[in-house]
Amino acid sequence: MKKQFRAESKKLLDMMIHSIYTNKEIFLRELISNASDALDKLSYESLTNKEMKIKKKELEIRLIPDKEARTLTIIDNGIGMTKEELEENLGTIAKSGSELFKENMSDDKNMSIIGQFGVGFYSAFMVSDKVEVTSHSVYDDKAYTWTSTGADGYTIKEGSQDENGTTITLYLKENTEEEKYDEFLEDFKLEGLIKKYSDYIHYPIRMMTVYTEDEKEVEEDRTLNSMVPIWHKKKKEVKEEEYNDFYIDKFYDYEKPLRIIQSDVEGLTSYKALLFIPSHAPFDYYSKNFEKGLQLYSRGVLIMDKCSDLLPDHFSFVKGIVDSEDISLNISRETLQDNHKLGIIAKSLETKIRKELEVMLDEDRDEYEKFYNDFGMQLKYGIYSSYGMNKETLQDLLLFYSSHDKKYITLKEYRERMVDGQDKIYYACGESLDKIDLLPQVERVKEKYEILYLTNSMDEFVLKSMNDYNSTSFLNISDESLDLDSEEEKESLKKANDEAKDMFSSMKEALGSDVERVQFTHKLKNHPVCLTSKGEVSVEMEKTLKEMPNGEGIKAQTIMEINESHPIAEKLKALYQEENKEELAQYTKILYAQARLIEGLSLDNPTEISNLVCEILAK
Ligand code: ADP
Repeated sequence: MKKQFRAESKKLLDMMIHSIYTNKEIFLRELISNASDALDKLSYESLTNKEMKIKKKELEIRLIPDKEARTLTIIDNGIGMTKEELEENLGTIAKSGSELFKENMSDDKNMSIIGQFGVGFYSAFMVSDKVEVTSHSVYDDKAYTWTSTGADGYTIKEGSQDENGTTITLYLKENTEEEKYDEFLEDFKLEGLIKKYSDYIHYPIRMMTVYTEDEKEVEEDRTLNSMVPIWHKKKKEVKEEEYNDFYIDKFYDYEKPLRIIQSDVEGLTSYKALLFIPSHAPFDYYSKNFEKGLQLYSRGVLIMDKCSDLLPDHFSFVKGIVDSEDISLNISRETLQDNHKLGIIAKSLETKIRKELEVMLDEDRDEYEKFYNDFGMQLKYGIYSSYGMNKETLQDLLLFYSSHDKKYITLKEYRERMVDGQDKIYYACGESLDKIDLLPQVERVKEKYEILYLTNSMDEFVLKSMNDYNSTSFLNISDESLDLDSEEEKESLKKANDEAKDMFSSMKEALGSDVERVQFTHKLKNHPVCLTSKGEVSVEMEKTLKEMPNGEGIKAQTIMEINESHPIAEKLKALYQEENKEELAQYTKILYAQARLIEGLSLDNPTEISNLVCEILAK
């Protein structure tokens, strides 16, 4: 007699049968995982229940693909199910696995999450028209067969199987345009799936395979899984080479990793982790196609390929595996996100990664610099995008070029090298080290202080979002407020500026709204002119913002500063005194154009400037 599924089970089944989800292959993972549980239960029983008479034999899982019959059979010699259990377990939605579906079943969008999580036995219907389960429980002397062709119900009859355990036969669906169910009968496909999802199941998963040798067909009973996860082994038991091979194989890299982090944590939340810092960024790393995440296992069963919640964005380059028996196999993406235990693991991994990077920085500078060249952007982005919140974690991992030798230094090293009386970390921005080195302002500051040379357009934004480094603030040497003068010098500059006030207004008039004002400066040594900026946005930042959406209107407030001790200063004063307004305006425009060019900015009026220069040359 045909029995009906309970309403909710029927619905889940329907979803499985009509699943448009492409990742159907996970059914195998689910069935293997159930088989492994059944073996666990049996070994537990035989340890604790002395009276139970179980024939001593090796516990195993076996796959039998049959191309002619188009069936795939999965057998375990585990605990088995009684008639009642078959009814109870397969006729209704199981407690744990499909709980998620009970809650969200009406919601079609949840279809997409099948595959990431344990959806249990019913996933067999994603690939099968008919499923037959014959089971012989160790508590029963009879075997029973449960059969179903899907949502219309199931039957349970007495079956024939002498040994304890469960045999599941899947009658595969007909191939369609999109889906070739036949592939689940191919040895290599099955082997691949076992390797991918169930490699570390700690019972052997076996299959008879046939291969040709010397034109003869040879049959071989093979174990498809490696059974012992490398991350379960003690660090000293594993050769570095093995870790490297594992990494290359598992994460499709061609180079061995830069660093390996292995950890085994026992506590309220226990987990094992094996992490790798790659030696180079994957080609799509800085694109939106890149997906961060660690593989998440629960007791050797892969539950998620890229669990992004385990890695903060600033360490998104890390690859690896986390295995925790405290995380249930049947966990949805939504519940994962606010899973408390996952959060604890993530935090502790973040610390481990940070420490490893610090050690690398201390002990192997060359290696760290190699790492930084590839992933430094991401660390900086971590500070910037969190508005400085990740500053504590990341600030000591940053490197910037120094004006001393144009080599990388850390902020810590900079601070240690600060000279008496220096209370700021000075920096200058530009496209390249050479260009920064030639900035007019650099010359004088460099005589007194070390300067950080920021060559990346993001760098200054990073420093701004940090605000300071261990209470020492940052200052752009192109900032108007840069002050290298003694009190006396300041006084004399102020006087010179006051005296030339009217001249500067007429110069400002010649430039219009392009500059805030014009003034003399002591910041320059040999150069005649520079641009400085006032307030939050520097000239360099303006350039970067211009490239961004909506950044067009953001402008630096610039000030044109003229070297007071340069002969040009005298020339300007003379023109003003002669009331030669026209030439003063011409000189002003040319000086402004020069200042812009030095800063790497373009000119709005190149023809006008070129004509002006020629006019003066021709005199
Ligand atoms: P879950 O495994 O999450 O509980 P499933 O739908 O996959 O959900 O399975 C339902 C139940 O059926 C399991 O909890 C288990 O009791 C039983 N079961 C499934 N497969 C087997 C098997 N191979 N041997 C013994 N019991 C099984």
